[in-house]
Amino acid sequence: MVIKKIAGFFGRRKSKVLAPSASAPKVKRAPVAPIARQVPSRTLVIWESELRAIAAEAAAWTVETGGDLFGRWEVNPIVFLATKAGPNAQRDNAHFRLDVEYLRQLSEPLSADWALRYFGDWHSHHRLGLSAPSSGDRRRIRQLGKRNNFPGMVEIIVTTEGAHSVPIVRIHPWFYDLADEEEPTAMGVTVYAGCSPVREALNARGAFPEQELNEWLSVALDRVRVGDAGGPPVLAGTPAVDTPTRERAISHLAEALERESGAPIEQHTTAFGKILVAQLKEPHHLAFAIDQKWPMNVLEVHRLDRATGGAEEIEASAGLMVPDINGIVQVYRAAKTEREVSRDVVIGATATPCA
Ligand SMILES: [Zn+2]
Repeated sequence: MVIKKIAGFFGRRKSKVLAPSASAPKVKRAPVAPIARQVPSRTLVIWESELRAIAAEAAAWTVETGGDLFGRWEVNPIVFLATKAGPNAQRDNAHFRLDVEYLRQLSEPLSADWALRYFGDWHSHHRLGLSAPSSGDRRRIRQLGKRNNFPGMVEIIVTTEGAHSVPIVRIHPWFYDLADEEEPTAMGVTVYAGCSPVREALNARGAFPEQELNEWLSVALDRVRVGDAGGPPVLAGTPAVDTPTRERAISHLAEALERESGAPIEQHTTAFGKILVAQLKEPHHLAFAIDQKWPMNVLEVHRLDRATGGAEEIEASAGLMVPDINGIVQVYRAAKTEREVSRDVVIGATATPCA
């Protein structure tokens, strides 16, 4: 079914040249909660993909291993990305030390591009079977939190049981309140179904290849336990992806199209989502209608002629979505080339889904 989203939007404006995005309706921003100034909650929120990524990495080693937790901490800490350790991590039977330089290489772009902050780490105790942090773990986490001025930290201890080849992986999250010297307390866990949008977007653009961002799929959720639970965690459904994540995904796309076209990108907010307009060769422009719901599918692509007010739909592959920046840039390049070659070329691009 052809949805005349863009044609409808631009049709109202006839042959008028569109005002730049400065005069377009402003994006309504959700209020941003201050970071954990309120009494911190004892629930860890984590995407299914991140729980399974921890399980996959822990199960891949017979010695202690670990990684870092990146997310947003509003009322509850929400894990958007659980990574595995860098190449210089030290692992042995009862000891694990992170690769700190690698942690820096991860945390800087994750903070700048996705507003994620490092708020703790995870490591396995494997066959030791100890589900609580050791005294060394406690000292290290407190030092880290204090050095960074964090109000709280999260540490996940991972234990395994059953067959060595396909173990059951148990996740024990601990909360550290850095305002006092109390011992860490066990946290409840809420698990969102599916893939974290940040993992999905990083994977679509081939970022951090050493993280093997698809590896979480190798361990099924039924091999994961939380705390002392007898069975796998019950999923809390798939939440609507939050505004900061969606806005950042859109601005990364706009930056890529701006680099490609060498001209500013217009952004228009509509009832269904957004329209991004990139200049081809004056008076021609390419307009992408984008669904506001994650993963923000490209609903339609139109070639606009600002001289005549004409809008002509061009065919782009189904499944094209905002996290697949390269796929959308390819559509732009093809449209720019096509003008000079033929008007009847069908433009395709491949989307890279999370899974
Ligand atoms: Zn430990």
